[in-house]
Amino acid sequence: MTIKIRPEIEQLEDEIIATRRDIHSHPELGFQEIRTAALIAERLVEYGIEVQTEVGKTGVVGTLRGAASGPMIALRADMDALPVQETSSVDYKSRVDGVMHACGHDGHVATLLAAAKVLAAQRKQIKGSVRFLFQPAEEGAGGARYMIEDGCLDGVTEIHGLHYWNYQSYGVIGIQAGPVLAAAGRFKIHVKGIGGHGATPQGTVDAVMVGSQLVTALQTIVSRNTDPLESTVVSVGTFNAGSNFNVIAPEAQLLGTARSYTEENRQMIKRRMAEIVNGIGQTYGANIVLDYEDGYPPTINDEDATLKARQAALEIVGDEGVIKPFLTMGGEDFSYYSRRIPGSFVFVGSLPADAEPQSIPHHCSHFDIDERALLIGASFYIQLIENELM
Ligand SMILES: [Zn+2]
Ligand SMILES: [Zn+2]
Repeated sequence: MTIKIRPEIEQLEDEIIATRRDIHSHPELGFQEIRTAALIAERLVEYGIEVQTEVGKTGVVGTLRGAASGPMIALRADMDALPVQETSSVDYKSRVDGVMHACGHDGHVATLLAAAKVLAAQRKQIKGSVRFLFQPAEEGAGGARYMIEDGCLDGVTEIHGLHYWNYQSYGVIGIQAGPVLAAAGRFKIHVKGIGGHGATPQGTVDAVMVGSQLVTALQTIVSRNTDPLESTVVSVGTFNAGSNFNVIAPEAQLLGTARSYTEENRQMIKRRMAEIVNGIGQTYGANIVLDYEDGYPPTINDEDATLKARQAALEIVGDEGVIKPFLTMGGEDFSYYSRRIPGSFVFVGSLPADAEPQSIPHHCSHFDIDERALLIGASFYIQLIENELM
């Protein structure tokens, strides 16, 4: 495998790793990234980059204007940690009880800062501008939406993002046009029936029986309404009902999640859920209320932006290093950017060299990455900007 780390990045290796470890040991949850944002703003100012703070609550935006005019390309990093207690014993482990960078966003920040430093030094060759987006609250609260509301995409023509990815080994970049991360919705179903004696079911509406029919019928959305060459998931995670063995339950509550890779399937799932709930309610005489809450939209990579990402990746990790990404049904709020402007999101392999595949998954309490991957990520960003704007 021939990996070509950019020489400017090679020189910054110690600094990049030190930044990542500093942020790793001081993790902050979504919309509380005060220390992280201050560190970022201070560095960007030091590099001579125009800085805006408190964008999307705690976000930071840097704008690097080149010597000549041209398009504006955005590069995005997320800054938030997770409510997880770190269990590993590395010397840079979290110093905050119950909070941890268990998804690698510390690495995203360090990478984008390194790219900003190198690109700022090459300002004279840049025809156009580079916007550096450091966003809060990716893990659930959708910080990207708040950044967009505050104008972070104004004037931006294309956006790129990356995720360090422990489902792929060090040295590869997973790239694919089209859907790469799922839409994630959550639902609550409340069944109201009529309770009674377990020995005299006539006249009752049994919420346990109605809820059971629902669980079964909802699975047909995946097995009978989804094109078999596409993917959807409908999972009922909780089913609560009843109080005693000889009492017919008057009520039941079901909670679940629905995932899909396309906007069409997302809409289809919502429509079919409503139809099934209505139909079963009518059939058994139960009053059923469906409460469906949309999560992040699917992340769909633009063809042309992805072609550019692929070209840059080829120059860093070579032919055999560019792979089809390891896909999951997880969601990403990068989708809010890339549904507005052409965008591409890639997956940079970061599984530590001696680790078994799947042994250090994202969000686990012993999460860590192969830090050499940070050099690949930063080199990728610089190559991308050089190819497009220099
Ligand atoms: Zn995550
Ligand atoms: Zn993440």
